[in-house]
Amino acid sequence: MQTPDWVAQGQPHIWLPYAQMKTATPPLPVARSRGSRLELADGRELIDGVASWWTACHGYNHPHIAQAVRAQLDAMPHVMFGGLTHEPALTLARRLAGLLGPGLDRVFYTDSGSVAVEVAMKMAVQFWLNQGERGRSRFLAFRGGYHGDTFGTMAVCDPDEGMHSLFRGMLAEHDIVDLPRSDEAMAQLDAFLETRGPQLAGILVEPLVQGAGGMLLHDPDVLRRLRRLADRHGLLLIFDEIFTGFGRTGTMFAFEQAGVKPDIITLSKALTGGTLPLAATVASNRVFDGFWSDDPAHALMHGPTFMGNALACAAANASLDLFETEPRLDQARAISAALAAGLAPCRELDWVRDVRVLGAIGVVELDGIHDREALKRRLVEAGVWVRPFGNVVYLTPALTIGAEELDILMRAVVGVLRAQRP
Ligand SMILES: *Cc1c(COP(=O)(O)O)cnc(C)c1O
Repeated sequence: MQTPDWVAQGQPHIWLPYAQMKTATPPLPVARSRGSRLELADGRELIDGVASWWTACHGYNHPHIAQAVRAQLDAMPHVMFGGLTHEPALTLARRLAGLLGPGLDRVFYTDSGSVAVEVAMKMAVQFWLNQGERGRSRFLAFRGGYHGDTFGTMAVCDPDEGMHSLFRGMLAEHDIVDLPRSDEAMAQLDAFLETRGPQLAGILVEPLVQGAGGMLLHDPDVLRRLRRLADRHGLLLIFDEIFTGFGRTGTMFAFEQAGVKPDIITLSKALTGGTLPLAATVASNRVFDGFWSDDPAHALMHGPTFMGNALACAAANASLDLFETEPRLDQARAISAALAAGLAPCRELDWVRDVRVLGAIGVVELDGIHDREALKRRLVEAGVWVRPFGNVVYLTPALTIGAEELDILMRAVVGVLRAQRP
């Protein structure tokens, strides 16, 4: 089959993400998606190991979500959220608060993860301002972290690995430190906060997995330490669960594995099962109460045009239905065991530094990747869609992926990495 006309005609007008377009392999035109498979416009089929940046947790085209979105499209695609409200948004807010449990009570909708983090930061800063506490505008964030691509969030990413070092001079200043992986490290951080604390609004962390900053894992103890530090120094603790939320780490939310809750949580990526853009920043009643006053200036001044989009909320409600009616968390745990076994042979390769698995996330870290474009090409030739970045090759498949498809995916990764030093 031939490449269709729309590729040649549209390609000169598109600007692609994270790509040096002069040298990068052109993007693969996709005609259809289904389950864990992508059908390319030229008729080839790839097994998807990424689930579109781990959003498509139920696989592509799940009929239950498709049906819910179609029904919502007929009833009402979108109305402004300023002064109006609707059933899909309120039902979703109630359900998210129910899933997150007491202490994460109020849902603020946005349409992307970066903006959800921006809103969390704005909430934290204004929470203190509303109480007359000036000068708390900094955040404590962590090396290896990734929280988005906007100017506010770039400033809390890893300064070197966060893809944004170019802009360093024009970003707000925050304190980016190592995660406290030991009690000794915690004591040092404690001492640092003794002096820095009064300038901080909060602590921002991706719980259990630092995703786009390198697929780095940490122990739940780290989160318990951060909770203690936040309490001791009176700081708001923000968990960015945009990557980890909705079963990816084996529990619905990563914080469950640590047994501690943040004051604010951000959600997006798999929120709509990978169908429509939607994000949520969920705060505790304590944070919300900091805005509850007779003074209009104490209101949270934020409101995206497409806030609470009804189609996206309907998709998210349908996605949550599927977590209730289908065994997603069991599937995540089964994938975890399969990834651990299937990727283990990579450990024997000289150029592999580490193989690690958490939930439905499998990571092969290499010493380096000499030619990433060639590596991507070889993976496509092996029939899989896997997109290495930095020094890592990772798998974040749909939680519904079949055992056979997962096997093909892992064999392709192992085979391609074994064939030659990438
Ligand atoms: C993807 C991601 C973001 C940014 O979300 P966008 O929708 O791409 O803006 C923020 N934080 C984490 C942890 C993410 O994985």
